[in-house]
Amino acid sequence: MQLFEHNPIKIYNSLSGKKETFTPIETGYVGMYVCGPTVYSNVHLGNVRTFMSFDMVFRYLKHLGYKVRYVRNITDAGHLENDADAGEDKITKKARLEQIEPMEVVQRYTVDFHNILNTFNFLPPSIEPTATGHIIEQIELISTIIENGFGYEVNGSVYFDVHKFNETHEYGKLSKRKLEDLIHNTRELDGQSDKRNPQDFALWKRAEPQHIMRWPSPWSDGFPGWHLECTAMSTKYLGEQFDIHGGGMDLKFPHHECEIAQNEAAKGKSPVNYWMHANMLELNGQRMSKSTGNTVNPDELLSGNNDFFSKAYAPSVIRFFIAQSSYRSVLDLTNDGLLASEKGFYRLMDAVNLLEKLEVSKASTININAWRQSCYDAMNDDFNSPILIANLFEAAKYINQIKEGKETISAEDLATLTNTMNIFVFDVLGLENVVKNDSGTDKLTGAVNVLIKLRQEARANKDFALSDKIRDELAEAGILLKDGKDGTTYSVN
Ligand code: AMP
Ligand code: ZN
Repeated sequence: MQLFEHNPIKIYNSLSGKKETFTPIETGYVGMYVCGPTVYSNVHLGNVRTFMSFDMVFRYLKHLGYKVRYVRNITDAGHLENDADAGEDKITKKARLEQIEPMEVVQRYTVDFHNILNTFNFLPPSIEPTATGHIIEQIELISTIIENGFGYEVNGSVYFDVHKFNETHEYGKLSKRKLEDLIHNTRELDGQSDKRNPQDFALWKRAEPQHIMRWPSPWSDGFPGWHLECTAMSTKYLGEQFDIHGGGMDLKFPHHECEIAQNEAAKGKSPVNYWMHANMLELNGQRMSKSTGNTVNPDELLSGNNDFFSKAYAPSVIRFFIAQSSYRSVLDLTNDGLLASEKGFYRLMDAVNLLEKLEVSKASTININAWRQSCYDAMNDDFNSPILIANLFEAAKYINQIKEGKETISAEDLATLTNTMNIFVFDVLGLENVVKNDSGTDKLTGAVNVLIKLRQEARANKDFALSDKIRDELAEAGILLKDGKDGTTYSVN
């Protein structure tokens, strides 16, 4: 197997808190697991950001020539409200509210998830296992954990004994928490739990009579704990130890911490060599989250039908916006940020589309091989996509200067430049070549924004007759103005 331009990759490992040289367990092969969505509602753009970060990692490793087995699960059972050990199952709750079967909820939002990922040009994972399809594996794992002395049964539910585990292992090593601190900071109402200690977590829960999603087990008719499913599915397809495990930062504790504990308790091995955590997407300065309602769905962003942004954005523009920051930085989604990315994206596409029209000379005025290497260096440095993009813009500038006759390029170098641009723009960043439609949407947006501004001026002058006229006549023309706290936006009827 040939690995291209294979300077060692460095990955920031959340477990050690350092960038480490990536050495796969088996040369040439990579096993990667990423926690997938809980399919009880539409994915928001924050979810998309996390999955996009790992789509880029997958794309780059594949490009380098690794044979990657990428497993991303679908959580279709066991994830309770507030990520807790008690309360209603998120999917069952949705089914109750909508008066449909839980599996109808699962189907609806799995389809939505796939549609969104297709729109954003994601590569499908190698395996997409579901929690409900792996109940037997989860029951086996629980039995082993009990046999090894780290799990106990109470009233048909099974819990992981965190205190017992911590006597011989280190609970909290990923999230850098100490059990003593957790003990001080955990508050639980007396008598509400069967657990020996509040820090213990559920491996199996006995189902209450009204709980529809239930399976027989040696302990009760019930359902598995959310943390357990990822341990069962990751190790089933990738082995007891595998290379990369990813997810959003918010999953580090307790979810991933519990995955480590479960695998160490069952198999005596820490499951993952490199833990990667993608940072959070914010919307106007606040974390995007289903629970607070501070979300924008991809559909709303793509159609322009939302309260936050002045216009619609193409999927590749959003992909580009996300890739312009490192996956480890917090990213704030703002209208200004999107507008700037849109400009940059089309500038890059214009340059790519110029490549085949360039004339070649005898010699080049820049060192293309050094530039190409700097693209690899950026990605090899913990998948640093913003630095990669800075390099791509360097190339765009050079392409424009060749076009203008200010720089020159040899035929051989032009082939390298074209090949490298194609690799990084399309294969690695996953962008799609969209030619800007200058005649349509953008000009309309410009015109409507002029009218929005005139309306604001009319209002400021207390000329409400004029401001209402602008709004009403636009509405008649099928353009609806919406006044939000961050200004006025429009949608097309
Ligand atoms: P969930 O369906 O809530 O389990 O989330 C699916 C994935 O999206 C997980 O990896 C979360 O960490 C991630 N996620 C949730 N909210 C955000 C956010 N605001 N920014 C980035 N990733 C997020
Ligand atoms: Zn998981």
